[in-house]
Amino acid sequence: MDLTTLTIAGLHAQLRARAVTARQVVEKHFERIQERNPKLKAYLTLSPERALAQAEAIDRRIQAGDPLPPLAGVPMAIKDVIVTRGVPSTAGSRILENYRPPYDATAVTRLEQAGAVILGKTNCDEFAMGSSTENSAYFPTCNPHDLARVPGGSSGGSAAAVADGLAVAALGSDTGGSIRQPAGFCGVAGLMGTYGRVSRYGLIAFASSLDHIGPLARTVRDVVAVLQVIAGRDPLDSTSADVSVPDYLAALDKPVKGLRLGVPKEYFGAGLDPEVRTKLEKGIERFRKLGCEVRELSLPHTDYAIACYYIIATAEASSNLARYDGVRYAFRAPGAATLEGMYQATRGRGFGAEVKRRIMLGTYALSAGYYEAYYLKAQKVRTLLYQDFVRAFSPDSGEHVDALVTPTSPTPAFKLGEKTADPLQMYLADIYTVTGDLVGVPGISVPCGKSKAGLPIGLQLFTRHFDEARLLQLAHAFEQSGGFTL
Ligand code: GLN
Repeated sequence: MDLTTLTIAGLHAQLRARAVTARQVVEKHFERIQERNPKLKAYLTLSPERALAQAEAIDRRIQAGDPLPPLAGVPMAIKDVIVTRGVPSTAGSRILENYRPPYDATAVTRLEQAGAVILGKTNCDEFAMGSSTENSAYFPTCNPHDLARVPGGSSGGSAAAVADGLAVAALGSDTGGSIRQPAGFCGVAGLMGTYGRVSRYGLIAFASSLDHIGPLARTVRDVVAVLQVIAGRDPLDSTSADVSVPDYLAALDKPVKGLRLGVPKEYFGAGLDPEVRTKLEKGIERFRKLGCEVRELSLPHTDYAIACYYIIATAEASSNLARYDGVRYAFRAPGAATLEGMYQATRGRGFGAEVKRRIMLGTYALSAGYYEAYYLKAQKVRTLLYQDFVRAFSPDSGEHVDALVTPTSPTPAFKLGEKTADPLQMYLADIYTVTGDLVGVPGISVPCGKSKAGLPIGLQLFTRHFDEARLLQLAHAFEQSGGFTL
């Protein structure tokens, strides 16, 4: 039996039958990491002591005949923008190279309380800024389906780890697509919940009004198991929503017959790779066969989403990243004669080129005289995008739909180095994902077949705010009807 391809349910069956111990499962994962990670470079740091201590605690509970908590013994990877007590948390940046946080993110605390085993921290674009994991200050991660290609980003390490059996599930973060796009590129499921569904406490901030933590896993059911544990109000994050968390698993197997799906025509225009289009058409056909009503609709402000996102995200980033000043914590460049010189040397050496570009863009958009023209305008566009979605989902609108279906990305995984010289091309990799973050609705990417070259293609679904149950139900029904083999 291959312990590194199991689902959570499969793993639990093995643990309950005492066919394996949690420790053996964890050791098997570390063996596979030793073998595969030198090629993939999915992990930045491993935390074997913490993992084995947790696995042994789970084994003691099994020995004692105690009921298993929901994620008992599940080996998980955590994106390096999510802090872990005593374990380096660099956000893929040199400026946090030696940062060992004194606390855990709430999502990590909840995972461990539910029995999950944290194997280590995964590579990502620096401060989650990127679409390929090539902006990591350390090294790029490779796509397990083709090592010459990117795994997507910014949660590329998490997606590659899950796809290649180096973790059963992982946490990523999504500000403009960074869970869904790498999930699509690596052929796994990745969920961004409603803004506020999962606490951001302990997520190293990029753009606070857009940042989300969410799960990646090989099946929708496993995504659900992780979401169930991490979702819900957290007093440590005032933007976490005080909305009760339903039993997602209970809704999962409900039939999707009669649900209305909207296909926004703006997501199928020029720039969509023909192979992705064909697979999406087949995917949509499959929903029809499952009894869904499918109709085309328009989200008329979609064209402005990328511009709007790159103003708001960079504005918020320029403010959030001001804290890395060489004084409060982490890296300080030595030897400067003046305070100004110390700031310059610290930030000059500590931040990579993309992070600096964004700090400059964001500072410019917020500066006196430009604020109204850029930042304020972008906020107004954000409201228009929000209204597009509300209209599509609102029962008062006459022709409302229960969910939207789109491609996750315009192309399958691109080659390493292909877009690094052209930031605008890189930004366009998120053209179908950013709006979900701007609007705050939940979104998921699930595998929808492969290209002729064997590269996974992602299908994305959105539902109305806090309707994760419906989103997961649709994604699960799609997967159950043969998601991978289109
Ligand atoms: N690729 C987008 C960006 O570079 C989204 C990143 C993210 O979701 N963290 O900002």
